[in-house]
Amino acid sequence: MTFLGYASALSAIFLLFAYLRSQRKLRTLEAQAYRAQNQLRGREDASTESHDRETQRLLDALPHPFISISEQGRIIRINRHAAEILSGRSTIGRSFRQIILDAPLVDAIAESLENKSTLSEILRLSPNSPFSSEGGGKESHWEVDLRPISLRDNTLEIQLMMRDLTTGVHADQVRQDFVANASHELRTPLSIISGYLENLTEEGGLDNKKIAKKMLATMDRHVDRINRIVEDMLVISKLESEDGVPLKIAPFNLAVCVRDVIERLELVIGKQDARVKVKVPEITVEGDLFYWTQVLFNLVENALKQNANSSLTIRIEARQSDNETVITITDDGLGIPSADLPFIFKRFYRVEKHHSQTQIKGTGLGLSIVKRAIEAHNGTITATSTPGVETTFTIRLPHAPRAEGS
Ligand code: ADP
Repeated sequence: MTFLGYASALSAIFLLFAYLRSQRKLRTLEAQAYRAQNQLRGREDASTESHDRETQRLLDALPHPFISISEQGRIIRINRHAAEILSGRSTIGRSFRQIILDAPLVDAIAESLENKSTLSEILRLSPNSPFSSEGGGKESHWEVDLRPISLRDNTLEIQLMMRDLTTGVHADQVRQDFVANASHELRTPLSIISGYLENLTEEGGLDNKKIAKKMLATMDRHVDRINRIVEDMLVISKLESEDGVPLKIAPFNLAVCVRDVIERLELVIGKQDARVKVKVPEITVEGDLFYWTQVLFNLVENALKQNANSSLTIRIEARQSDNETVITITDDGLGIPSADLPFIFKRFYRVEKHHSQTQIKGTGLGLSIVKRAIEAHNGTITATSTPGVETTFTIRLPHAPRAEGS
């Protein structure tokens, strides 16, 4: 082999080595790039995953149900609140129509999906709905907000957010009922008074003094009634005020309070020839004496009022344990039919609904005032009745926890 031949062979070998080396380098480079890409992808996956978890955590912290639904109507994501409401059902990937069975809600979602539009509505859901608050049994009201969101991959998802308005709606209803009932209660005596006034102011209306006097006496009774209704309404509104009742809590002797109530009712007790048996030890109770006097007065007065014609026995008893004071007021009068019993603490509820105005004995607010006042002291009141045999109102007042060391 000539020198040239050697040289070219050597350079060929050199080139081959260089080529092989460059190929290896390339492969290393490729491997490095691949590894980097994988690492990057891994990081991206991990960051999507952690982003996902973060989103879920935030959604779970929402105090309202949240559900996101794909364009195809499948559930993509659901927060804890919604999952708890739809308890036990696996939801992800399933059609919203299989999971949500409330027709108004299904219609709203379908409309938002179809029109790809935002929708805000207040829906009334049936008492059987899993969305119905307080464990069901009651109609619920929800503010429903549906928003289509465009995603990065040009797909769309509908986000459903719901807010429970039930408590507010019920409170509004109670308020409206109160105003309607109060107007009704006031209108009746007012129209009686204005009728008599018309008669009296007519030509010769005062000529017959006897009739005129009778009319004035009736008017007086109805003015009295209006006064009582207004007074009771003021007490209720005070007890139900937003900031609660400013109770003047102080220790008082329950036996003294009971004696005071009986003294106030002595005239009626005597007139009805009723017997009042008291078994209340000289125990101390922490509370607002004004309200406790009113509570006991209303309960004893009710027993007398409802049984004016029967020989009545009323028993007032109290006992105290380490953690509560229990007071019972029992009478053996006409009693309360079991159908009425669940409603007697409602405002303006009366058992004898068909009585005429002159026969109505109370305002229908007495027991609701009693209940509110007791609840303001963290106590409870319940009623049981076997008509004609025994009617008992039981008050339980838990003792306030003692401060440590006292
Ligand atoms: P009112 O102010 O008209 O007495 P309440 O709210 O105090 O109204 O009572 C509601 C209803 O409960 C009344 O219609 C009354 O008939 C009934 N009631 C309350 N206490 C008794 C009782 N001891 N015996 C029979 N009925 C009672």
